[in-house]
Order: sequence, then structure tokens, then C-alpha cells
Amino acid sequence: MLLNLHTHHAEKQADEQIIFNLIIPESNEELETFPEESPTNSWLSVGIHPWYISQPNQKLQLNKLRQIAYNQSVKFIGECGLDRLKGSQLPLQEEIFIKQIRIAEEVKKPILIHCVKCFNELISIKKIVRPKVPMIIHGFNNNIEVAKSLLERGFYLSLGASLMNDDSNTAKFLQQIPLEKLFFETDDKAISIKKIYEKASFLLNIPLNTLEDVIFANYLMICG
Ligand SMILES: [Zn+2]
Repeated sequence: MLLNLHTHHAEKQADEQIIFNLIIPESNEELETFPEESPTNSWLSVGIHPWYISQPNQKLQLNKLRQIAYNQSVKFIGECGLDRLKGSQLPLQEEIFIKQIRIAEEVKKPILIHCVKCFNELISIKKIVRPKVPMIIHGFNNNIEVAKSLLERGFYLSLGASLMNDDSNTAKFLQQIPLEKLFFETDDKAISIKKIYEKASFLLNIPLNTLEDVIFANYLMICG
């Protein structure tokens, strides 16, 4: 079983288990009808993305998230987090992120994090809020120093299409990441999760089947 921890595409391969991401919308109209199809058949992550925080509708967005978060098919809260390059002002992003961490704590589900150039802020928020639920950084492709400091603080890392590029940070440091802290994902990329697992299996020198089992066991450890 190929666990794809984070994707925005609903279609999947036969041997793939996806966590399909739903983004809480910004407008009143969309919030009313969200989610349009009842999310029962696939596993989901649901969150307020830092790019799509509505200043006027933030309460409605959070209420909607809290309401959906209890749904059995929702396995993660997120993607949520911090982005220095895009979205609303950082203080508002931090506030909404912290509120989503509290919802995750309430429903006891791990948090899927979007973090762009805000790792220091992320680390201090974890220090202050001290959530018991696991925190996974999705689409991680920063350097090994940042990776190590996140791992030391208990974060998990989910790696994606960057692995396909031999010059990427992730391809270079993959071997140094403890397997039990690792996930893989396709995110919004047009690449199969199998290609990413195959590349990781090659870089780690671990049989593909074993790698699939290890990663799925990680999932069961944090979500089971
Ligand atoms: Zn994403």
C-alpha cells in the first residue's frame, strides 16, 4: 500500500491510499455549501490554508472546520500553517494556525503543516502551545540543518516531488532522516506516488515493499 499523505487530486492508483486535502473556503456562499460532496469514501485532511484566510469570515471558517473535524473520514487537520511569501499578514496567520492546533487537540488528530520561510515561528508556536497531537510538515524541501532542528523537536517530515531531482535538498539528505519520521506525498504535482516511493527506495537502498510497510506503519502510529 502506497500511502500518499497529501494530495489535491482525488484520483488514485489501485495500490494507493490517499489523504485528499480539502481547503476551507473563504466566501460566505462557499462556506454554506462546503463540503459539497459528503466526504465518506476517502481519507481527508481539512484545514484553513494560510493563503485563504478570510479576515471577515475567519470565525465562520473556524466553526466550519471544527464541525467537519469530527468526521471519521477526516484523518488530519490541515494543511494549515505559515507562509511568509503569500497570504495574509503573519500575525493573523499565526492566530488562525494556533486556533487550528487547538481544534486538532480537541478532536485528537495530527496536524498537517504548510510552512514557507517561517520555521522559527513554527518552532516557537510548538513550544508555546505544546500540542500532544503529532505535527507533520508537508512538502518539506529545506536544508538538513532545518530538517534536523525540526526532527529534534518532534516534527515529522513529508517529502514530495522534490525527491525526483537529484540536486534537491531532500534527495541529498534523505538517508539522514529516521524512517519512522518520514512520509511521502504528491501534493498538487502531476506525478504518481509510486515514482516517489521508487526513487526513495533507490536512494535509501530499501526494497520498495518494505518502505511502503514502514511508511504505512508510521501512519498507523500517529492516526491509528
Ligand atoms: Zn498542498
